[in-house]
Amino acid sequence: MKKIILLVTSSLVGVILLFGVLFYGEINLERLNFVHRWIAKSVFDSWHKHLSNIPKADGAIVDYDTLMSQLNFLERNFAERIFAINPRDLGFKGPKYSKEKPEKLIMVESVKVGDRGTGIQYCPEHSYNDYLLMMEKMKKDIGKQLFVDSGYRSPGRQAYLVFYYLTSSSDYSLKENVKWIAMPGFSEHGNPINNAIDFTSENGMNGFSDGQSAKDFEALPEFDWLMKNANQFNFYLSYPKDNPFGVAFEPWHWHWEKK
Ligand SMILES: [Zn+2]
Repeated sequence: MKKIILLVTSSLVGVILLFGVLFYGEINLERLNFVHRWIAKSVFDSWHKHLSNIPKADGAIVDYDTLMSQLNFLERNFAERIFAINPRDLGFKGPKYSKEKPEKLIMVESVKVGDRGTGIQYCPEHSYNDYLLMMEKMKKDIGKQLFVDSGYRSPGRQAYLVFYYLTSSSDYSLKENVKWIAMPGFSEHGNPINNAIDFTSENGMNGFSDGQSAKDFEALPEFDWLMKNANQFNFYLSYPKDNPFGVAFEPWHWHWEKK
C-alpha cells in the first residue's frame, strides 16, 4: 500500500514538474510545445467566451487590457510572454504603429457576402469617406463594388485574432502566424491614420477565407480596377508580391495614405 502511495505521489510530482518546466521554459517560435498549445487554446477560449457575451459592435474594438483581465494567472502569463516577443525575431520586418484610438471611427454594418457576413467593422472617418468615393467610381466603371471585410482593429481585437489564427493552425507556429496576422501594435489595421482595409467582393471572395487563395482575389476584375485606380483615392496596396516586410502577398489589403 505504502509503495502505491509513494508511486502515485512521485508520478504526480513528476507531472507537475514537467508541466512547470514546459510552461516556464523557452517558447519555441516554430512549434509550441504541448503545454503552450494547451494554454494558447485556453487563452483563446476565455477571450472567445468574453466576446460572445458582449455586443458585437463592442467586440470589434475591444480594449487590450479588458481582454487581459479575463485571463487566469497562467493564461495571462503566457499571453503577455507572447506579446513581449519582438516580431523581428519572428521574421516580421514591418514598422510599429501607434496603439492610439483613431479620432473618429465610423461603424460599418455587417454585409452579407456569399454565404457569410462581414461582421460589424469600423473605419476612421477620413479613410471611410475615400472608400465610399472609390466605390462610387468602381461601380460606374465596372458595375461591381467591394465591401469592408476588416477595417480598424483595436490592439485587443488584434490580440484576439493572433490567438485565433495561432490555435487554428496545425503546428502552432508563431513564425508562420506572423506572415498573416501582425502582433498588436504592428498591424496597419490598428493604425489610427493610415488605416488598412481588407476588401471582399460582393460574393464573398476575399482571398483568405476557407478554400480561397491570394491568386483568386488577384484574378478579380475588382483587383485589376484597384491596381489602376485606388491611388487616386489615397488607397495603396501594402503587401505586393515579394514585399520587404516579411508579409505574404495580400491583394485584398489596402491602406489609406495622403501622399
Ligand atoms: Zn489586412
